[in-house]
Amino acid sequence: MNKIKVRFAPSPTGPLHIGGARSALFNYLFASRYDGEMLLRIEDTDLERSRREYESEIIDSLKWLGLGWSEGIDTGGPNEPYRQTERLPIYQEYAEKLLEAGQAYYCFCSEKELEAERQDLLDSGQMQKYSGRCRQLSMAEREEKLKQGIKPAIRFKVPAHQLHIVDDLVRGRVSFDSDDIGDFIIVKSDGIPTYNFAVVIDDVLMGISHVIRAEEHLSNTPRQLMIYDALNFRRPEFAHISLILGSDRQKMSKRHGATSLVQYREMGYLPEALFNFLALMGWSPEGEEEILSPAEIAKAFSLERVAKSPAVFDINKLNFINQQYLKKIGDEELKEMLKPYLADSKYLEKIEQMGEERYGLLVSTIRDYLVCLADVKEQLEVFFADIDYAGEAREVLAGEGVIPLLQAFKEGIHKVNEVDEIKQLIKGITKTLKLKPKNVFMPLRCALSGQAHGPDLTHYIAVIGRDEASKRIDRAIDFITR
Ligand code: GLU
Repeated sequence: MNKIKVRFAPSPTGPLHIGGARSALFNYLFASRYDGEMLLRIEDTDLERSRREYESEIIDSLKWLGLGWSEGIDTGGPNEPYRQTERLPIYQEYAEKLLEAGQAYYCFCSEKELEAERQDLLDSGQMQKYSGRCRQLSMAEREEKLKQGIKPAIRFKVPAHQLHIVDDLVRGRVSFDSDDIGDFIIVKSDGIPTYNFAVVIDDVLMGISHVIRAEEHLSNTPRQLMIYDALNFRRPEFAHISLILGSDRQKMSKRHGATSLVQYREMGYLPEALFNFLALMGWSPEGEEEILSPAEIAKAFSLERVAKSPAVFDINKLNFINQQYLKKIGDEELKEMLKPYLADSKYLEKIEQMGEERYGLLVSTIRDYLVCLADVKEQLEVFFADIDYAGEAREVLAGEGVIPLLQAFKEGIHKVNEVDEIKQLIKGITKTLKLKPKNVFMPLRCALSGQAHGPDLTHYIAVIGRDEASKRIDRAIDFITR
């Protein structure tokens, strides 16, 4: 196989979407697997919607995910510039070649005329494609319009009755009839090339061997193939990866929750987890094991194992994967990783007063409950929220023998601090009062937290500290005897 070179070519019209991230990842994996190269090109020909902020946001998201490239917008390289709006003379040169060869022509039709034409076709139930009206213009007519100052677009002359075949590396053989496609614009009247034109010129000049992209571009491929042929360019291989659907099997959209990578990053999903999850959206490893490191995935990746059927975005799967990766993080590191998520917590002051050691205990107590890092805030509630004895807790506290139990605990808690000591204290009380452990743990938990369920009780007590525990016991006794 010749040297493999792939590209990711986002349009900077919004933050990096999950689908875009998956395309970038598959390109990256393909290049890694076959010792190829990857480049990053910015396709900003939609002047109205493209923004520089999005460009840097996309680059940040890709880097955060752990992807890299050897050539492109931020790294530079032998094919600069990598931003399409900075390459206009290049596209112009090739458009002129096509004009000279009679494979393209000036089109003077106004938006209004084109709209009227589309409406007529629609009304008469015909296929919507440009009539080719300006193909017929004589040289004199053309000169006249230019003289009038009308700025023409350049249209590609679609050859009649051709079958364009792609042996897509994911979808298999797909053929397109050129008669289904009208002459299409390659350079707009403002001199900006259209996607279908610019993408071909760039992919060829930048030496791209494999175009791996979303399935939604499959319908663009015949137009691109025609340009490859007209300019005698060698075609790259194509691989169109399937759509990502929401859990209801509709196209993934905001309705399904977060759609951009940056949102997942902000929620505290780990980059390795997303890397793993996105890789499994369409690709499947040979073995049963699905929790795989970036290096393991890159070693195993192949387009043969990319499914044709749509990938379904299953948040439960992402959550599961993220939890697996969270488990691998040491307590110390996790403590640091959680700090930014606590910055705007209403309990920040309380946490700061706890000191490092007790904060560490808090983290180790709640870590198994975290699906993503942002969940930490919710997990703090049971430790710090105002207590309101209601529901099950209220019933438990109304039970027999609760007051002596709480009093015994209060007496003992003054003398202890550590988790182990608290354990011993509770064990002792259970023995002395001849109670079942459940009848000790439950009332204590309800009295201390106002909840019938929660994290490990001895850890919980050590986290809130003996003074706070003592105060809460007083309050609970007050509540019961009121
Ligand atoms: N700029 C296009 C997009 O963001 C790239 C399509 C392609 O990879 O050819 O969808």
